[in-house]
Amino acid sequence: MRTLIQGGTVVTATETVAADVLVDGEKVAAIGTGMSVEPDRTIDATGRYVMPGAVDVHTHMDLPFGGSFCSDDFATGSRAAAFGGTTTIVDFALQDYGESLRTGLDRWHEKAQKSSIDYGFHMIVREVNDQVLQEMDTLVGEGVTSFKLFMAYPGVFMLDDGAIFQAMQRAADSGALIMMHAENGGPIDVLIRQYLGQGRTDPVNHSLTRPPVMEGEAVHRVFKMAELARAPAYIVHLSSRDALNEVREARDRGVAAYAETCPQYLYLSIDDMARPGFEGAKFVCSPPLRTVDHQEELWKGLVADDLQVVSTDHAPFNFKGQKDLGKDDFSKIPNGLPSVEDRFTLLYQGVVDGMIGLNRFVEIVATAPAKMFGLSARKGTIAPGFDADIVIFDPNHERTISAETHHMNVDYSCYEGRRVKGLPQIVLQRGNVLVENGEFFAKEGQGSFLPRSRIST
Ligand SMILES: [Zn+2]
Repeated sequence: MRTLIQGGTVVTATETVAADVLVDGEKVAAIGTGMSVEPDRTIDATGRYVMPGAVDVHTHMDLPFGGSFCSDDFATGSRAAAFGGTTTIVDFALQDYGESLRTGLDRWHEKAQKSSIDYGFHMIVREVNDQVLQEMDTLVGEGVTSFKLFMAYPGVFMLDDGAIFQAMQRAADSGALIMMHAENGGPIDVLIRQYLGQGRTDPVNHSLTRPPVMEGEAVHRVFKMAELARAPAYIVHLSSRDALNEVREARDRGVAAYAETCPQYLYLSIDDMARPGFEGAKFVCSPPLRTVDHQEELWKGLVADDLQVVSTDHAPFNFKGQKDLGKDDFSKIPNGLPSVEDRFTLLYQGVVDGMIGLNRFVEIVATAPAKMFGLSARKGTIAPGFDADIVIFDPNHERTISAETHHMNVDYSCYEGRRVKGLPQIVLQRGNVLVENGEFFAKEGQGSFLPRSRIST
């Protein structure tokens, strides 16, 4: 099957050119003009951008939380991702206490059988011991080449510095990447207890008890330990100026220091968490939303490449029935926001608003995450030999984001009522149409597991 995408503007991280794209089977065969081919199908891309399918390296589908699960599983979440222009996700497999990494990973392989788009896994490590360190090497050999550790949530996820350092050393030896949730959980837990003791139970207190200074402190510690371990390190969901300054400082020192931020930290703030009533619970995630002045700094970080990636940390919980577990206690509100469908378009508003250029946009949503996480042999750009994961994006389409029209399985949108420009109109994965003009054509389970290469930062 040969498909010719005709008349569009091909945008990659480095180029913007008027060209046709020839797809042969699952791969991009050629890019150029005036190709003399007889395609089986032609897609007219006149007036639209032809961009690589986006890569979201931070999602949580089907994640257990307090007796229930994230409201998107791999079926609904991957479908919503495709509608939003994302054709690859890297989700977090979770090790339960007392079990092997293998058992946790196998459980995620099972869950992901329902994915309609291609996927890889990071592994969340909750305990470090000799067996786990050995298993890390085994997993790297199977293409699970990144491990997430926590400095927050004592008694649930948090590891001490010794355990983190050991995992970093092991990762340095095997070519894996350590990803850190960087917030100092000890003082944060003390603050949470104190606030609740004073009867301060509203959602906004979730942010007030997790101040930016404790994120900055943790990021600082990550890169000092990474330096000692001679390991690269990557900060997930960086939210504040304090944390970003620590990344900058480490990079200036020559440490292999990397970080992602998320759309919520670029577009939402603590003001949303302070909305009247219980409304603020919709915006509870960790690290929390900050004051508005942090946003500009994060955009600067993206422009200067001190932040290399924007991913979603997609972890949706319904407002009714899930978020309201914390009605009388902000610390019981499930942490996480829905946004796997919105990232591509939200980030594109950065182009519309003149914050970033078009090529940088593609780099941030597709090319850089693919490269950072060992997918750059197949994903993240449009070039001969690469998977034909392609978004035909109409930059002039205007619409309003709403829970009424989104495809995520969650009863609210953090961006309800927001006017945006641009629509991923046609989305292809490996040459197959997933989405076209609002209709979904993929079969549940047609996504493939992507073994990822060792990390070469
Ligand atoms: Zn996360």
